Amino acid sequence: PPQITDDFTEVLSWADDVRRLGVRANADTGADAAKARELGAEGIGLCRTEHMFMDAERLPAVQAMILAEKPEERAEALERLLPMQQADFTELFTAMSGLPVTIRLIDPPLHEFLPDLVEQSVLVQRLEDSGVTGRELDDARTVLGHVKRLSEMNPMLGTRGVRLALLYPEIARMQVRAIARAAAAVREQGGDPRVEIMVPLVGFDEELRRMRAVVTETWAEETAGADVPHTVGTMIELPRAVLVADAIAEHADFFSFGTNDLTQTTVGISRDDAEGSFLNAYVDGGILPANPFASIDVDGVGELVRLGVRKGRGTTPDLKTGVCGEHGGDPASIALFDEIGLDYVSCSPYRVPIARLAAAQVTLDRPAR
Ligand code: PEP
Ligand code: MG
Repeated sequence: PPQITDDFTEVLSWADDVRRLGVRANADTGADAAKARELGAEGIGLCRTEHMFMDAERLPAVQAMILAEKPEERAEALERLLPMQQADFTELFTAMSGLPVTIRLIDPPLHEFLPDLVEQSVLVQRLEDSGVTGRELDDARTVLGHVKRLSEMNPMLGTRGVRLALLYPEIARMQVRAIARAAAAVREQGGDPRVEIMVPLVGFDEELRRMRAVVTETWAEETAGADVPHTVGTMIELPRAVLVADAIAEHADFFSFGTNDLTQTTVGISRDDAEGSFLNAYVDGGILPANPFASIDVDGVGELVRLGVRKGRGTTPDLKTGVCGEHGGDPASIALFDEIGLDYVSCSPYRVPIARLAAAQVTLDRPAR
């Protein structure tokens, strides 16, 4: 990790004096949040909660939650996850006390949590071939059935984000409960949690309207009259979300542009395959000025961000707006985001100093009015 010298700290403080754009960090753990704060982040712009479920200890409960056949089984798995999530959020609110923390409800491409289809098929085949019968084979077959039922040709365009939350609202409820409990606990200990709950992959205003209702109802149940403030907003990461941003903004306190998915779905290029793909030849050959996943595609995706902000603020004038895709830490993209008038960018902790400098540079470059 880069060392920040006293001189550099001073330069960064000058940058902070001139920049208009806020700089937050993407962080999912208390340690990352603390590091981000040390590097000058003014909050968390994106906590990807699905990352919290990846560790080996939790995965069985997560798979049970997704694969459960009966509501009671799912409820039991969620009960096991709730205290873990509460501890996760307590860490974040503590590390970022007094600063906003945007927690995104779970947004997994489902396949990342499921056993691999081919491996599971091989397992069943192997058990059958070796003459194993009974519980072991039955269980393996049951899991294979679920994996087949849930597997998708294009998981990135599948049961992700708000779609998952609407199909299984009890998962979102568990997360909101954990967030509310953590916020209340941190407040009781004298901390100042600034909670922002974010809904991913919204494309239809009705999706956000329904999710907001779930969040509001669950929050009220959990906090039972205690005044624990929070806001609810959405990612804008689909072209359709931009086109109907005025309607979506009716249900949003903030918009955060997910320029990774927005780039993927606008330019029609897979973000997962971008690195080794034809894109290099495109950039080398001058067809594109840069890899659009690294530096914002100004004429396409950039225009969508501009339009989304305009439409969103048309409905909700005090709508808070930010960006939390990779572009939030890229100086050229930051210049565009500042010009469009976003309130903040959010990037990985180690890019925070660069983002602070870039945000100041764009202010200095702007012709005096
Ligand atoms: C995005 O799509 O830009 C984003 C921030 O979300 P994720 O990268 O987690 O899909
Ligand atoms: Mg996304």
